[in-house]
Amino acid sequence: MTAQLIDGKAFAEGLRNRVSVLAAQFEQKAGRKAGLAVVLVGEDPASQVYVRSKGKATIAAHMASFEHKLPDTATEEELLALIDRLNRDPAVDGILVQLPLPAHLDEQKVISTISPDKDVDGFHIINAGRLAVGQEGFVPCTPLGCLMLLKDRLGDLAGLDAVVIGRSNIVGKPMAQLLTQESCTVTVAHSRTKDLPGVVRRADIVVAAVGRPEMVKADWIKPGAIVIDVGINRVPGAEEGKTRLVGDVDFAGAKEVAGAITPVPGGVGPMTIAVLLRNALVAAYRNEGLPLAMGAL
Ligand code: NDP
Repeated sequence: MTAQLIDGKAFAEGLRNRVSVLAAQFEQKAGRKAGLAVVLVGEDPASQVYVRSKGKATIAAHMASFEHKLPDTATEEELLALIDRLNRDPAVDGILVQLPLPAHLDEQKVISTISPDKDVDGFHIINAGRLAVGQEGFVPCTPLGCLMLLKDRLGDLAGLDAVVIGRSNIVGKPMAQLLTQESCTVTVAHSRTKDLPGVVRRADIVVAAVGRPEMVKADWIKPGAIVIDVGINRVPGAEEGKTRLVGDVDFAGAKEVAGAITPVPGGVGPMTIAVLLRNALVAAYRNEGLPLAMGAL
């Protein structure tokens, strides 16, 4: 059997278009654009690329983008003072601090300074708690994007066996909570899991968020299962000196067994920015007290 390809790029484009239409409506109703502030500390080249592409995507989605760059010598006080200003700025609906931060800055302290109502990354402990108890808040972008792809493919997920490989605060844990809310029977696997292939083989839904190139093999996958590959790993390419991206799943093998699978690149990756824009727009509607039909997003 050959799996269907889950085209995250196309889904993300559709989501971005819907966000853009609702962002234009927001501007008409609120008399201002929804605003997303991105804070970058230091000169990390990968982070600079991410911040630039987030800024461009924000503007393309009919929202205002505010970029704040601090040198890697910035003190914690300076960074916290900036976040405090953004928390109080009514033009800013969402605040994202690009991670990782330089080593002298305490990530947890920085994240906990962001107002939970502007925490569009969903990393604040209040939003983690809201997700845990099933209250409305902000959910981290990557797992929410994975859930959207799964629901688009499967509709109702109730009763399905799901295995999430990885238990990070950013992906694995929130993913497991979202799937639990959808009434899946969820197993969270990690580096200490015994017989990982056997655990994965039981699953109707596999979400791999490990960071190990092509670790999940074809013979771990139950025939017909839906496989969501979150991993982004750079490995040596066919040509000398070149690299290529692979996921945490052995795509070539798994696509012969799975019912549907996300490719890397072009699967989960594009969903992350699209969901960030979605979260920023939701924040804007909430901050202005305007109703938003969540079904539209
Ligand atoms: P972390 O390193 O924070 O977590 C990795 C998890 O994998 C840990 O829970 C770890 O277990 C588990 N793990 C490690 N080795 C094994 C193993 N041999 N068997 C089973 N489990 C194992 O990573 P993230 O969650 O931040 O990211 C995971 C991957 O997703 C990375 O490739 C990252 O680049 C990618 N990513 C992609 C995004 C996107 O936009 N598509 C966004 C975010 C991440 P333990 O807890 O026991 O150490």
